[in-house]
Amino acid sequence: MLNLLATETESLAGRKMLEGRTAIVTGSTSGIGLGIAHALARAGASIMLNGFGDPAEIETLRAEMAEGNDVDVAYDSADMSKRDAILMMVERAKARFGQVDIIVNNAGIQHVSPIGEFPPEKWDAIMAINLSAAFHLVQATFDGMRERGYGRIINVASAHGLVASPFKSAYVAAKHGMVGFTKSIALEGAEFGVTSNAICPGYVWTPLVEQQIDAQAKSHNIARDAVIRDVFLKNQPTKRFATVEEMGALSVFLCCDLASSITGTAIPVDGGWTAH
Ligand code: NAD
Repeated sequence: MLNLLATETESLAGRKMLEGRTAIVTGSTSGIGLGIAHALARAGASIMLNGFGDPAEIETLRAEMAEGNDVDVAYDSADMSKRDAILMMVERAKARFGQVDIIVNNAGIQHVSPIGEFPPEKWDAIMAINLSAAFHLVQATFDGMRERGYGRIINVASAHGLVASPFKSAYVAAKHGMVGFTKSIALEGAEFGVTSNAICPGYVWTPLVEQQIDAQAKSHNIARDAVIRDVFLKNQPTKRFATVEEMGALSVFLCCDLASSITGTAIPVDGGWTAH
């Protein structure tokens, strides 16, 4: 056991502990998904990137991730609101890598509005991308993971999957749903070596958050710094944004063998927000 621990500790310090593993990371052209994809690739996993963006920039990203880590990196533009596209992405990943060992359900969108004015089509889109996509991707990969005796399902939920916030009804509902889905799948996979965990970030410095800060500063006509201090970091006791690297490090740990008893959890990475 001590030898095993020593090996794992050494691995955490930089060896390729996910060598030979293959992963699909949804919404990985930006922000948290990109941070997780980078971390998994550094640990030796082959990666299927997914998400929207400029095709030339995505190709540069793909090539650099592959060359920099000596792993296979592919890209699929599947729209996570569409089941058929998700199933085709899984088929492409299986054809290219042979199997899918790790899935990271990360793609997500948000809309902020009082309930009386909340556009029904925004509700549907948030449910489709933030919640139903995880169901489709798990369904298409779960049996293979179970048969091989190893699988890792990581669902990027949110602190809003644990506590509520006004005007974000669809987002809060979808993220709470994701936490429940995570736990249910954990019970289905536990005896077959398939773990399922949710990561619940507070505010993380990403393009999405930067856009939200700019929008609030503009609509309330207040300085950006005030929005950051009084809105975004108000409930985050660390008084700083988390980083995408922190999300990547946790994801790599959840995929390693020493994390195989960690399943059915919703792990806050929120600087103490939900400890209030
Ligand atoms: P981001 O906007 O920087 O990245 C979102 C990614 O999802 C992009 O790659 C985008 O192209 C992709 N995407 C969006 N719609 C898609 C669709 N229909 N199909 C495929 N890909 C799609 O956002 P982020 O801040 O990195 O957020 C990523 C996840 O983390 C989301 O689920 C979000 O709810 C969650 N989260 C973020 C924060 C935060 O503070 N940034 C906090 C808690 C939870």
